[in-house]
Amino acid sequence: MRIGLTGGIGSGKSTVAAMLVDHGAALIDTDAIARAIAQPHGAAMPAIKAAFGADVVSADGGLDRARMREIVFSDIQAKQRLEAILHPLIGQEAERLASEAGGAPIVFDIPLLVESKRWRQLVDRVLVVDANEATQLSRVVARSGWKAEAVQAVIAQQASRAARRAAADAVIFNEALSMESLAREVQQLWIRWVALPTGA
Ligand code: ATP
Repeated sequence: MRIGLTGGIGSGKSTVAAMLVDHGAALIDTDAIARAIAQPHGAAMPAIKAAFGADVVSADGGLDRARMREIVFSDIQAKQRLEAILHPLIGQEAERLASEAGGAPIVFDIPLLVESKRWRQLVDRVLVVDANEATQLSRVVARSGWKAEAVQAVIAQQASRAARRAAADAVIFNEALSMESLAREVQQLWIRWVALPTGA
């Protein structure tokens, strides 16, 4: 069983992912893969340098993320060029890691599962973690110290909550839920999707 886990920034994806791992899932974090392949000597660096020039490469040979963010924020074609480099490499690495999971259920943490259609075919089911925008905002500000406007800009660029819910096979509404209640919801989902032999 391959579960695609997604949700907006600060919705609680990583928290839910950790709970699924407690139940025995293998976790594949596509954000972590994206970061790894854009580090010095990372698999994406030659193509990134060829496409965007030395301007986006830091002194250590890794991606200059701040510079790249500036470029793609205002240039949709640049964003698409970057994604065309990163996504196939992320997909390959995700498959490689999946092949090492030894038959365990796999959770793919894919923040942009709804935004980029290519990820849907990687997974059997889609689990969406949903929260109100005000809650997303306050969680991210509390966790990272980002300015509210910066978080709002990210929320505005991501898929809408409605679009995410429409793509979901199940939704966990992580709003005014204690960690214990959230853990119970995750456990119920695990029983429904993974532990019961008939699934569904
Ligand atoms: P990002 O997209 O930024 O990676 P995320 O969706 O993975 O975020 P988490 O990191 O899981 O979100 O959660 C964001 C913050 O909110 C964390 O500090 C987490 O501990 C907290 N949090 C998540 N769910 C709850 C909850 N039900 N009650 C209290 N705090 C929560």
